[in-house]
Amino acid sequence: MQILLVEDDRLLAKGLQQALQKQGYAVNHIETGKACLHVVENEPPDIVVLDLGLPDLDGLMVLKQIRNLSSDLPVMLLTARDSADDKVAGLDGGADDYLVKPFEMIELLARLRVLERRLSAVKSAEINIGEIVLDTTSHYVTFKGDELELPRKEYMLLKLLLENAGRVQTRTNLENRLYSWDEEVASNAVEVHVHHLRKKLGADFIRTIRGVGYKVDCK
Ligand code: CA
Repeated sequence: MQILLVEDDRLLAKGLQQALQKQGYAVNHIETGKACLHVVENEPPDIVVLDLGLPDLDGLMVLKQIRNLSSDLPVMLLTARDSADDKVAGLDGGADDYLVKPFEMIELLARLRVLERRLSAVKSAEINIGEIVLDTTSHYVTFKGDELELPRKEYMLLKLLLENAGRVQTRTNLENRLYSWDEEVASNAVEVHVHHLRKKLGADFIRTIRGVGYKVDCK
């Protein structure tokens, strides 16, 4: 899952980025409304986390323009303004959710999971496909009933494939959702993670769609 974090408070942004990356999100951070619109137009993320108090454009204006570009891109607003009017303006402006600063990280994570489930073919916190059970809340994974401890990128990749079961995922798409802009990526990174997952889950669970990418079947 790739999050675009639009926040001009660098300290807060850095903390959020680290915490979200630790939870298995690729997080790309920018500081202005103009940059946000440029990214949404050219390299759309899965979810936008948008601070309303930006240095260049009013956050509600940015939200409006995001909606002109994409009607269904999930947007979570962050704001220091705690008034009902602002909340209503944000939600009426097409935001999917709204958090008032300061907020608890666990609350942001829970709300992001709700937005994620909306994007996923799977509508519950627990994904059960084949002999794999993956709990998106606790990050607990079992295979044939045994706990499977996965390195973070392998967990992220498996979750992406399970959430999109039945749909082919291109290498580029997977790479963008596994790595933030500031992370170095080897050109064969996705292949290497798939290779490691196959060793743990058997060779057939993740299918290679030649010339395109990878796929996990629905059941
Ligand atoms: Ca701000």
